[in-house]
Amino acid sequence: MLYRIILVLALSLSLQAKISVVASTSDLADIAGQIGGKHVTTLSIARGSQDPHYVEVLPSYMIKVKRADMYLMVGMELDQWAEQIIDGSRNSDLRIVDCSADITPLEVPTRKVDASMGDIHPNGNPHYWLDPDNGKAIARTIAVHLKQIDPEHGETYDQNLLTFIESLTTLEKEWVERFSDLRGKRLIYYHNTWPYFNRYFGLEAVAFVEPNPGIMPTPTHLDHLIHLIQEQNIQVIAMEPYFSDKAPNYLTRKTGIVVVGLAQSVDARKGTETYQRMLTYNLEILQKAFTP
Ligand SMILES: [Zn+2]
Repeated sequence: MLYRIILVLALSLSLQAKISVVASTSDLADIAGQIGGKHVTTLSIARGSQDPHYVEVLPSYMIKVKRADMYLMVGMELDQWAEQIIDGSRNSDLRIVDCSADITPLEVPTRKVDASMGDIHPNGNPHYWLDPDNGKAIARTIAVHLKQIDPEHGETYDQNLLTFIESLTTLEKEWVERFSDLRGKRLIYYHNTWPYFNRYFGLEAVAFVEPNPGIMPTPTHLDHLIHLIQEQNIQVIAMEPYFSDKAPNYLTRKTGIVVVGLAQSVDARKGTETYQRMLTYNLEILQKAFTP
């Protein structure tokens, strides 16, 4: 009997010993998994193929967060829906981590934001995880908090952080060699998801299929894009998986422009199962699109 009780206690302790991390997005969950290793369990609220701006808040999410130790937010007002989940979870022990804490934002509006401008974020463009240097910053932030919650495994977290950063540094060398032909390439994106990615890899967004962020394309805007594509000989439109391809396909019919699908997050498409793979995937897709 006593033996049994000890066994159950030992089992429950070893289960409890894992830090439970819930993240708004698959990118944050993947990076947390790489830093936490075997000491954490991770879960993402939004699927990789889902628009991270708009997530329907379900009671089941609150139940998941109720049992969690840590919640990772993208921040910069991208995942405001997460606040509702966190409030609803009534988990007073939950550590809420804003992963944008150490990011230098791009596209901070210089004038007052109003609804006519579409879905503009007052603290700048929130799609910062698509720059690998920001990926490192996210990982550092997560490591700091994991070490505070679970100092016993602090050394492992430090070691995993180092491994994560080194994997990106190795990839950076590979990317420079393999994808230097992408530098200076100009393209149209569906949504303004890519300014951090563009800055890092030397690409340029000439226009967006959305007339304003979060606003559906209008006939007038599509006419404007047709002129732009023809005048400036733009060859590629890139889009996220959760948008309708109706407008991009219309532009292809009118101009012959190539439409490709990018992965804005881990698991957004097949072959993007890790943060590192997701970045390489996008470079491969774009390189192919620009190869005549
Ligand atoms: Zn956005």
